[in-house]
Amino acid sequence: MAHAQMTDVCPIECRQGAITILQTLRFAGFETYFAGGCVRDRLLSKAPTEYDIATSARPDDIKALFPKARSVGEVFGVMLVRSNHHMYDVATFRSDGPYSDKRHPDIVSFSDAEHDAARRDFTINGMFEDPIEETIIDYVDGQNDMGNRLIRAIGDPRQRIREDHLRMLRAIRFAARLEFSIEPETADAIRECSSELAGVSRERIGEELKKMLTDQNRGVAAWEVQYLGLDHVIFAEDSCRNAPTRVGRLPANATYATALAAWILDRYTSDSDLLGIASQWRSQLLLSNKVHEEVCSILTIHQHLFAWDTLGIAAQKRVAGSELCMSALAIVQCEDRPLFVHIHRAITNLERTGISPDRLITGNDLLEAGMPPSSTLGNILEAVYDAQLEGSLKTRDDAISLALAMYSDFQDS
Ligand code: ATP
Ligand code: MG
Repeated sequence: MAHAQMTDVCPIECRQGAITILQTLRFAGFETYFAGGCVRDRLLSKAPTEYDIATSARPDDIKALFPKARSVGEVFGVMLVRSNHHMYDVATFRSDGPYSDKRHPDIVSFSDAEHDAARRDFTINGMFEDPIEETIIDYVDGQNDMGNRLIRAIGDPRQRIREDHLRMLRAIRFAARLEFSIEPETADAIRECSSELAGVSRERIGEELKKMLTDQNRGVAAWEVQYLGLDHVIFAEDSCRNAPTRVGRLPANATYATALAAWILDRYTSDSDLLGIASQWRSQLLLSNKVHEEVCSILTIHQHLFAWDTLGIAAQKRVAGSELCMSALAIVQCEDRPLFVHIHRAITNLERTGISPDRLITGNDLLEAGMPPSSTLGNILEAVYDAQLEGSLKTRDDAISLALAMYSDFQDS
């Protein structure tokens, strides 16, 4: 339930804004707490990304106290309230009824804090905080699991996963991000239900995978996804036993596309149809065009980097100058450190003569020199630029002479 977060981490004024809302609700007589992720993060001494507020007040009561509150899920009793320049989810305590669509409860009924804790996914996400009394209200034994660093489903793990199969991915994401283990019964339930992830929309799966792979502990998440057999459904591929070592060694701030490319390389040999696989992942994870194109570029550049010494100077400069070269190089660094160092040094040398210098001539120069427009001109321009990158051309006049010579060769042939 993340709404209106401008930054990844909530600053202190954000907590203050949440306390103001909580006090307003309490003064009006409603039992109110902080709930879920922010309580967990605070107990872990991490800055929360958002504050969610749970209350006995009904949506109409919330509207009466905060006239500008907007409903973001009337049926679930969730209102969006602004305070101290931040937005907060204020949700009425509720219990969820059965989940026949495996995603949303068929009915929700407003209830009390204890039932509201029980409908949450994992014990570490099921606690409340009273920021005034500075106490934790823990109906689900979350503090104990927090101490033992365990992700444990609240209630019967099989039933809780069957209600919403996305919880399988959430368990992995929290375990990886927080460096917790998945409690054995919860892990068994995930393994047993793994094929049922197929019922979850690709959009929700893609969103979870993105959150996992943009976190610095992405390698652990990739391991768990494979170990628990979820990769089979996520990618519509055979389950893979290869260790996701490249994914695990990427720098903390690696992009989503870099992590996806690294994982493809972990799962497949270099003679596989890697671009075909990227395109399948695109449809499985509903990747944006941008991310898909980046994955393809990184895979292509990565292939060139492994053939580095066979490339001429111009080709090396074109690779080194391409936008995603550093992403592909980050993957090489995870798999072949001597090759990485070799290419890194070579690029530093190439930089002395300019990796992506401005072109000496453009298409207009060729037209002005009397060449009629045709598709050949593009090829000539690229060949002239290669000569410039190799250092055999220094001036615009030299470039035009070379272009004219190429053009007449082309006409003769
Ligand atoms: P994050 O820091 O990633 O936002 P979070 O715990 O705040 O972690 P949210 O997805 O924002 O996670 O959800 C807020 C709270 O709502 C959770 O802590 C949990 O109590 C509950 N919740 C969210 N998704 C589910 C779900 N699929 N099933 C049950 N409870 C859920
Ligand atoms: Mg959250």
